[in-house]
Amino acid sequence: MDFGEKETFRGLNRATQSQRQTGSAIKPLAVLAPGINEKIFTGATIYNDEKKTFEDGYSPGNNSGYLGKITVRRALESSQNIPFVEMMQEITPKKAISYLEKMGITSLTENDEGLPLALGGLDNGITPLEMAAAYATIANDGIYREPTFYSSIVDNTGKTVLKKKQEKRTVFSEQVAYVLKKLLQQPVEGNSGTATYCSIPGIDVAAKTGTTDENYDKWLCGFTPYYTAVTWFGFDQNETIYYNNQNPAGIMWANVMSSIHDGFTGARFYQPNKISVEEICADTGEIARSGCTNTYVEYFLEGTEPEECTKHSGIKVNVHIDTDEETNVYVDNKEDLELDPDDEEDITKNNDIENNIAKNEVIENTENIENTENIVNDEYIPENTVDSENDIYEPSTGENNTESENSNNEISNEEIVDNTEEVEEEETTEESPTT
Ligand SMILES: [Zn+2]
Repeated sequence: MDFGEKETFRGLNRATQSQRQTGSAIKPLAVLAPGINEKIFTGATIYNDEKKTFEDGYSPGNNSGYLGKITVRRALESSQNIPFVEMMQEITPKKAISYLEKMGITSLTENDEGLPLALGGLDNGITPLEMAAAYATIANDGIYREPTFYSSIVDNTGKTVLKKKQEKRTVFSEQVAYVLKKLLQQPVEGNSGTATYCSIPGIDVAAKTGTTDENYDKWLCGFTPYYTAVTWFGFDQNETIYYNNQNPAGIMWANVMSSIHDGFTGARFYQPNKISVEEICADTGEIARSGCTNTYVEYFLEGTEPEECTKHSGIKVNVHIDTDEETNVYVDNKEDLELDPDDEEDITKNNDIENNIAKNEVIENTENIENTENIVNDEYIPENTVDSENDIYEPSTGENNTESENSNNEISNEEIVDNTEEVEEEETTEESPTT
């Protein structure tokens, strides 16, 4: 790979230093995590997505139109704004901030204590590195770990002269993390998902897009059972991004992640105990009966399941779980990794764009690929260990980590080289909606 000449010493590192507006990429962190953990709502709770003015005249729009009564899951799928502001109102911005800070966000101010926090309208913004560490909290089953760029330094005799201690803390339970993971698959797997192009065959992918006003910032935050990665795309001095109606951060994310997962064993998010899985009536957000016509599967913390549908009749519908899915083995098939041209924010098959991405943008802009705990020394633990219970942490220990845990961020070193953006501007008549 050609990284170009090094022209600046200690230049601006956009991954670690640029605080940027996050747009909707903050919704899972500021709204879903506290809401699920505090049992304020579930993935099936219904909110009314309609034009609405909140306190102090706050009246956020929905670029893609209003959907009426929808579940939290559906609101997340196409990133509907109104339901998230409603959820924030119930959580309170103060509580949301406390969660964000526990997940390692350090740049919030008292001006952020308001409803626009739900949509990522921030005073200072957040660095890509902190966003990656916060998303990794979900990927790491509720345990926040301070990002690090090295694990230890050894001298020429092999003696360890410096060992990194990573701060760790539990923010929420592995059950809450699992519910969040299953919700975050919706933007990737849903018919109206904003991140469908991020899917990787045989591997569970959780992802959320972010777009800010005037298309100044584009984000993709997400993870698999193997890796967490966050990409941001924009200009140091705000300029509107024109990129063929697509999210260039998402394109980078999809290309890098599909490439680094190439040949990996298929992997699903590990389902812990005390999770219930129910067939839900999407009209009422209640447990489906045989008379319900619009149903889907939802994941709940045990004890937070809704009642049986009060609008339709019939007997309770049981969830059909495809057990084969759990044993899927990923087969390396390049063609499956092609991005779907029908996706909302799809990628054209324009070779110029693809080549450009392959040569420059992906590497230069990929920030903070942080390993989740299953990767040791860049080598992948063989098949079936991804979901294993052997990876459970003792979050309370602040002591030195074991060697395997210490190697967690090795890949980041090379990836966070520089992310000088090289936008290939293309005139388009219409930009993609805020997602
Ligand atoms: Zn029903």
